[in-house]
Amino acid sequence: MNGKIVPWDQATVHVSAHALHYGTAFFDSMRCYETDKGPIIFRPKDHVARLYASAAAYGAKIPFDPLEVESACAEVVRRNHFNSCYIRPLCYFGSATLGVHPRVPKIELVILAFPWDPFLKKQGEESGIRVTISPWRRFHYDMMPTTSKASGGYLNSVLAVMDAVKRGFTEAILLNQEGNVAEGSGENVFIVKNNKLITNDEHSSILLGITRDTVIQLAHKFGLEISVQAISKEALFSADEAFFTGTAAEIVPIREIDEKVIGSGSPGPITQRLQQTYTDIIHGRLPEYREWLYPVGTSATPSTRH
Ligand code: PMP
Repeated sequence: MNGKIVPWDQATVHVSAHALHYGTAFFDSMRCYETDKGPIIFRPKDHVARLYASAAAYGAKIPFDPLEVESACAEVVRRNHFNSCYIRPLCYFGSATLGVHPRVPKIELVILAFPWDPFLKKQGEESGIRVTISPWRRFHYDMMPTTSKASGGYLNSVLAVMDAVKRGFTEAILLNQEGNVAEGSGENVFIVKNNKLITNDEHSSILLGITRDTVIQLAHKFGLEISVQAISKEALFSADEAFFTGTAAEIVPIREIDEKVIGSGSPGPITQRLQQTYTDIIHGRLPEYREWLYPVGTSATPSTRH
């Protein structure tokens, strides 16, 4: 917390923090996985770069160097002796003013780490999940930058997922203002049609996911045809396969959308191949992807950087 290791119970924030009142916090999420060479963090450089970009979209300058943040994430994992965990760096406008204009806010930075299994995994990995089209639209990128992972933006996601769960679904897909697919409450969306992979981009009001980028890179590697374009509701419903991607969720097949069965109703071959490769990468079994893995190490400064 602001450069110090603080016990969980003492990691508290004052009630006058600007972020608590106006949602002015910016965060990212990473996962640490067990490998036969010890725990690693997956793509921390990219997650930390996005954290800085999310904050910069609101004029917030994080008072640390990105490399310091990366190694602090590893330090938090080490100090907790976790072999695998979820890591949540978050910076926020602290206490200075309760005016909406934050003036010259104090930027605080915290890094939380705790065990957290991929939350859609249990139901989802083998059989796929049931999702619904949310009655809530994704906020448009000309309202707030959807590419910035800002806390305030998650009010939109909270409404969507609460509604979905209340109606018996696992997750929501939010459409954008144009009526096309935007994303899940915390995941990007991919579909497969005639062996072609399709996903959308920031022009569809989405967060540019790092798992999304991993899948795009894998598709290129596999020689799969991939197209980045708007996904209409019709294209979604008539897809051969559909899946979510996200750090917390990983790669999760979508089995049904609003009672409509997608493809065969079970995870398709392209989804399964991507899932399997993703699992192999994060557990360090594919040496060609080692540059994405940051060894947590045993000393204060990890010896391997990328
Ligand atoms: N969209 C939203 C709204 C998210 O919260 C997330 C999770 N960070 C994603 C997409 C997926 O991003 P990533 O793959 O980087 O976790």
